[in-house]
Amino acid sequence: MQYTADALNIAIEEFSKLPGIGRKSAQRLVFFLLKYDKEEIHSLAESILALKDKIQYCETCFNITDSNLCAICANESRDHKIICVVEEANDVLAIERTNEYHGIYHILGGVLSPLDGIGPDDLRIRELIQRLGGQVEEVILAMNANAEGEATAVYLSKFIKSLDIKTSRIARGIPMGGDLEYTDEVTLARALSERVWI
Ligand code: ZN
Repeated sequence: MQYTADALNIAIEEFSKLPGIGRKSAQRLVFFLLKYDKEEIHSLAESILALKDKIQYCETCFNITDSNLCAICANESRDHKIICVVEEANDVLAIERTNEYHGIYHILGGVLSPLDGIGPDDLRIRELIQRLGGQVEEVILAMNANAEGEATAVYLSKFIKSLDIKTSRIARGIPMGGDLEYTDEVTLARALSERVWI
């Protein structure tokens, strides 16, 4: 159904592009926003614009940050000899919540997925290999527990082991098909501390 006001149709169309938002939810959100006063709408719109204007990727680990280096890479008290490789920046938050990990990170930006046409060159694998030339002594692979995560970890472990760097994977406390993002802190902390050497 199309509304008689174009602005309404366009807003509903835009909201329905968001993950987990169907057309009905989009309509509900848009009608909710219609009740906002102008100031509230502006601050919402500005916060969305700032995502593109102010947010950037850490030049070392590709975490989301608002300066060149993210707070974790810039923190001297973190152990810069251990790199935990994750798929997305959300996973960093999940691991940080455990308070069990004190190394630094590398965000791949996805996983290998031949069916979706995503190969090694589409991920930040080259950047990871470059980082391994320095002081790094251990790499922890913390991919999500699904077929693509598995394939990506196997692919990476071959490279990393050939560089003579200790490589481990987080333990299988994570249920198969489970995303790190939705794994509770206790399970994730255990998966980290019981990581397996490969
Ligand atoms: Zn960083």
